Amino acid sequence: MKITGLQIRSIQVQRQHRTVVGTGIHTPVAGAGDAPTLSRFAFLQLETGEGFSGLGEWSDLEAGLEPVQLKGQLEALLLGRSPFDLESIFATFPLDRSTRCAVDSALYDLMGKALGVPVYQLLGGRYRPQVEVSWVVYIRQPDLIAQEIQAMCSQGFTAFKLKVGSRIEHDETCVRIIRESAGPQAQLKLDASGAWSLEEAIEYIPRLAQYGLQAVESPVRGRGAEDLARVRQAVEVPIIEHVWDRWDYVLDLVRHQSVDIINLFPEGCGGLFRCKKVLALAEAAGIGALLGSTVELGVGTAGQIHLGVSSPGIAYPSDLIGPAMYQEDVVTRPFVYQAGGLAPLEGPGLGVELDPAQLERLGE
Ligand SMILES: [Mg+2]
Repeated sequence: MKITGLQIRSIQVQRQHRTVVGTGIHTPVAGAGDAPTLSRFAFLQLETGEGFSGLGEWSDLEAGLEPVQLKGQLEALLLGRSPFDLESIFATFPLDRSTRCAVDSALYDLMGKALGVPVYQLLGGRYRPQVEVSWVVYIRQPDLIAQEIQAMCSQGFTAFKLKVGSRIEHDETCVRIIRESAGPQAQLKLDASGAWSLEEAIEYIPRLAQYGLQAVESPVRGRGAEDLARVRQAVEVPIIEHVWDRWDYVLDLVRHQSVDIINLFPEGCGGLFRCKKVLALAEAAGIGALLGSTVELGVGTAGQIHLGVSSPGIAYPSDLIGPAMYQEDVVTRPFVYQAGGLAPLEGPGLGVELDPAQLERLGE
């Protein structure tokens, strides 16, 4: 089986509200309107002579990245190749990790469709029925957070991740509101997005931990392995850090015993195949994992779910909030949360198909 053609389409879709994360003690709290914001996406469709098509997604595109302009380069890299040749296709892959992720997803979708199996069967088989999701609460006004938590609890969510790193007084108010609204059993993580100094992290984490925390992500500016280790030694709350595609950084975190849990996701690592390799490093080191997110639509979320259900290491609630954070999706069967989790859709490959009418309506 050979790849014979490819198409790239870009679209725009609205988020429910502005999503502010901590960038330092002066991170502004989002304003009263908290208006929806536009996110840009692109979708890759790889085709084979047998009539299979494989899908990949560039999620929430950064300004300046125009996947449509990569068509010629991707054709040169992929046409005539077998989708099963992951190692050789990626051995010298010259493009950025978002593009690598889109290609990796489309290759897995093709492999699954060619073999008539869901992608999770290619990633180790179904280890758990669904991926538990922690609803991510961004930096907002406390009254909006109270409403948000009530709404998500009534939809069945029992795990939450709160973005902190604005003013500590604001952060503490929001942690208290979530604990009071979600109840004592709810799992609550914080994500400071690297906003705190070492001293701030060591002072603030115990102050916020009085409300009961499962873990704290990215507590320190710079995310250095030694600084993270100092925080981890000073506080009793487990520490999470993003690892992206930096294998040397994973090894650094292991060497310095800096973290309890790593945060990884296909777009950050450059695809499902790479995520499995990073997960193997974490497993060997006795470190847990969760799936972070770049807030994906249906195609990207599908890949995340196949990874999550097939990976024992992903034992903590993950950040797969895209299906509820965007006002609409481009897949024919949008994902629906069940008891605060997401399960793969039945069918070969990723189990999702693009809806041509939606692509047309949201297309650029
Ligand atoms: Mg984070």
